[in-house]
Amino acid sequence: MRKLELHWKILIGMVLGIVFGFAMTQISGGKDFVSDWIQPLGTIFVKLLKLIAIPLILASLIKGISDLKDISKFKNIGLRTIGIYMGTTVVAIVLGLLLVNILQPGDGISTETIDRLTNTYASDSGVTSKLEEATRQKSAGPLKFLEDMVPDNAIAAMSNNRLMLQVIFFTIFMGISLLLIGEKRAKPLKDFFDSLNDVVLKMVDLIMLVAPYAVFALLANVVVSSGDPELLVALLKYAGVVVLGLFLMIVFYTILVKLLTGKNPFWFLKEISPAQLLAFSTSSSAATLPVTMERVEEHIGVDKEVSSFVLPVGATINMDGTSLYQGVAAVFIAQALAFDLPLSGQLTIILTALLASIGTAAVPGAGMVMLVIVLESVGFPADKLAIGLALIFAVDRPLDMFRTVVNITGDATVSMLVAKSVGKLGKPRVKEWDDHLDEVK
Ligand code: ASP
Repeated sequence: MRKLELHWKILIGMVLGIVFGFAMTQISGGKDFVSDWIQPLGTIFVKLLKLIAIPLILASLIKGISDLKDISKFKNIGLRTIGIYMGTTVVAIVLGLLLVNILQPGDGISTETIDRLTNTYASDSGVTSKLEEATRQKSAGPLKFLEDMVPDNAIAAMSNNRLMLQVIFFTIFMGISLLLIGEKRAKPLKDFFDSLNDVVLKMVDLIMLVAPYAVFALLANVVVSSGDPELLVALLKYAGVVVLGLFLMIVFYTILVKLLTGKNPFWFLKEISPAQLLAFSTSSSAATLPVTMERVEEHIGVDKEVSSFVLPVGATINMDGTSLYQGVAAVFIAQALAFDLPLSGQLTIILTALLASIGTAAVPGAGMVMLVIVLESVGFPADKLAIGLALIFAVDRPLDMFRTVVNITGDATVSMLVAKSVGKLGKPRVKEWDDHLDEVK
């Protein structure tokens, strides 16, 4: 087992977790056994990853900015990053819309299936809580997201993982000020953050020692708590379109990597795979962030000056998988419920899904909340929203797992592209994860 590379260990943990989960659904009391005795390990693991996310953003972003030694370089990286993020997100939404319009997964769906799905889920607490959250988010003005980005209390912002954008704002502000006071005066604080950064990365290494066991627990729990299998099958065509779109996005990233950085795309996928497997198991870009950063910096060779800015920002605002899913889901719901969606409506979806992906929190299920806002933007009747969400709710968790993989792969790709364009894509520091773990032991 020791010689096995990390991604294989995680993969084995995942497969065993799924098999174990299925076996447990067959045994009476199996479900409770998993939630009482197995799930806690997974929960603890995700908590540990989230625990280090904020210190990691703080330390690495300040280190990244202060290493730049020049504000204009920061502006350059910042603008490129935001530009490329917007570009890839638009590609994702357009791809999703093309697929759902060509393959029409909602057209053949029988009224019986629609009735069964909506009867089962329309009053489900999962659906109602998503609707409530969407109402809260939407009751705000158009510039609310800018207002929300600026914290009035740095400590309060750091105390809530959902406020990651506020932490990023505060940290960039502090990093820029550190650049402005000159190297000599900045040195003590910079040394402190450098060292904090190393410590947090070591914490990632330690946490990853239990990753294969934790994903076993996470997946066993997903399997035992997933809904009626018959209803899952009814949505196979819709889920297939989303997964196909997500797969094509990964292909798109590998083409970008090959064409724009000259690196081997399979090498890229292999090096990033532990982060992808964690994204799949946790359904959270935020929880995966520490591992994405570690992989991109140490194993792919992106300079910290770039990755420390591009990745935390990407985890919060760049969600290509989520926006593709929102495009497909909105049109699928419209098709299934015979709601007319002309081309102008679909163009509106491009814009709102782009904004929605920026506003979507990097946590499980958040994409569905923003889907409500996308649906409303095309005039979908408010009284039918619960029915629409109920329709796709059964497969939302598995799709969330897949879209989160695409979300973090998009971030990693863009970090490589930005690094290459500013001459900061170097050689990876770590060849094999196990060499690295040897240091830990
Ligand atoms: N779970 C996704 C993420 O964290 C967001 C979503 O699509 O629900 O990236």
